[in-house]
Amino acid sequence: MEHGGTSGGFPAHASWLELSASALRHNVEVFRALEASTGGPRRMLGVVLKGNAYGHGFREVLPLVHPLADVLYLITPQDALAVRAFERERGLGARQVLVMGPIGSDEAVALAREGVDAVVADLSWREVGAALRAARLERPLRVHVHIDTGLGREGFTLEQLPRDTAFLAQEREVFELAGVLSHFSNTEDVTEQGYALAQLEAFEVGVARLVEQLSPARSPQRHIAASAASLVLPRARYDSLRVGISLYGLWPSPETRLSARLVLGELPTLRPVLSWRCRSQVVKWLPEGSYVGYGCTYRCSEPTRIAVLPVGYYDGYPRLVSGKAHVLVNGRRCPVLGRVMMNHLIVDVTRVTSDERPVTATLLGHEGDEQVSAEALAGWAQTIHYEVVTRLGAHLRRVVVD
Ligand SMILES: *Cc1c(COP(=O)(O)O)cnc(C)c1O
Repeated sequence: MEHGGTSGGFPAHASWLELSASALRHNVEVFRALEASTGGPRRMLGVVLKGNAYGHGFREVLPLVHPLADVLYLITPQDALAVRAFERERGLGARQVLVMGPIGSDEAVALAREGVDAVVADLSWREVGAALRAARLERPLRVHVHIDTGLGREGFTLEQLPRDTAFLAQEREVFELAGVLSHFSNTEDVTEQGYALAQLEAFEVGVARLVEQLSPARSPQRHIAASAASLVLPRARYDSLRVGISLYGLWPSPETRLSARLVLGELPTLRPVLSWRCRSQVVKWLPEGSYVGYGCTYRCSEPTRIAVLPVGYYDGYPRLVSGKAHVLVNGRRCPVLGRVMMNHLIVDVTRVTSDERPVTATLLGHEGDEQVSAEALAGWAQTIHYEVVTRLGAHLRRVVVD
């Protein structure tokens, strides 16, 4: 593949992200197999494309997952409309799309017209009902009611149900109950799922109340399981899975991996979809005693061949990893020297190269049998891999490879 050069208006020297289409297909297969092994009626496999598809790039990931998933879970109405535009452009059938985030009245009207589902999570939706009525729609907006079963985020608590959802019963011409959902608070950080089980109990109570109150023509889709619960809590799978982080080949947490080994008997392999690479701006020798980077925090204790990489915290490489991280060059680890800068990163290539020709560094991903994982980068940055990947600059070039 092409490295460097001018491409699609991207700076010739900018770092780029590689998205592995085969890794993504593999991860979808893992969840399909998991779903099939549970028995019972076929569940839907939904994928979560929020946060610019977990930093992987919404525009690039959408064409890859659209044929593979049954439902697309998004946060913004804009992303949902982008899916519909994409489908029209390519002549594809309309997938079920659900906007999980907040929605304004005008946006709700647009979503209803486009056949996109929306999440009703609070009383502000009473006003949306008025706007939908005024718009004289041909069909009602399909809504999924969010029940707060213990996360303390959006959704109606059991206290509020069914009182606060009475407006849905009164506005059947504009709201159709298509689903009921909730979200777990504590499935990733533990190997003991007591809190999640209490949330499941609350969820089932809430679903029963809504069904009784709204008596929908068809049973609403029930969905609560994100990646971790899909993997380790079979009871939580219900009618649809909402797989985010693991679609991209990352385990939600070490605890989830441990639990999966126990619950599933054998550990499924997830393949990271993303690699982040960069061509050096310059490779050169610094004499013994030279300082590297802002603040003179690093001093060369011997003559050192450095590679200056044109990538920095602006692009999403966390500054907190200064002095801790390594990148891969020629399949070997090269420590990051001194501080990560806005647009630069300096690594020691003394032992992995033999001259001053440009090198290609892997900031995230595999090279030979070495790897820099999103988890490792997150560990050095004192955060979680979810944050590391979602902070990858939206401006970076994303290239789909097989
Ligand atoms: C982010 C999110 C998910 C996906 O979570 P993962 O842990 O990334 O699989 C599912 N549902 C809701 C409501 C979310 O906010």
